[in-house]
Amino acid sequence: MCDKKQVYSLASNKTFCNYCPGYCCYNLPGAMLLIHAEDINRLALHFDISDGEVRKRFMDGKNSFRNRADGSCIFLANGKICKRCSIHLARPKQCKEFPYEKPCPYLEREDLLDDILPRLEKSLNLDR
Ligand code: SF4
Ligand code: SF4
Repeated sequence: MCDKKQVYSLASNKTFCNYCPGYCCYNLPGAMLLIHAEDINRLALHFDISDGEVRKRFMDGKNSFRNRADGSCIFLANGKICKRCSIHLARPKQCKEFPYEKPCPYLEREDLLDDILPRLEKSLNLDR
């Protein structure tokens, strides 16, 4: 078992994203993935379809991707530890830049940490 102190310390390490279950790819309370026109266009080029088709297939409303029932982004490859974003090269600007060179705010939230701790331990093999 790893305690919360260990996880906080891991969260301040920039390589932590490689091990995190990808909380920023879930539609959690207080979180919002904002998709802009340039993001839609980048995705259209990636899939070789029109911007309108991107909106039709992947968008929920004007400014966000659809989510699955568990709140995960439709492009999240669940279960994988690396290469979890199935549109990595064409992902939205916000996804590229988050958490903006700062410690990740998701991993400082006690409520989330309680929920993800088992998955973190599994990812890091700390439950052995
Ligand atoms: S930005 Fe935060 S929530 Fe997203 S993968 Fe990295 S550590 Fe996890
Ligand atoms: S587009 Fe990729 S990086 Fe962005 S929220 Fe979805 S799965 Fe995560």
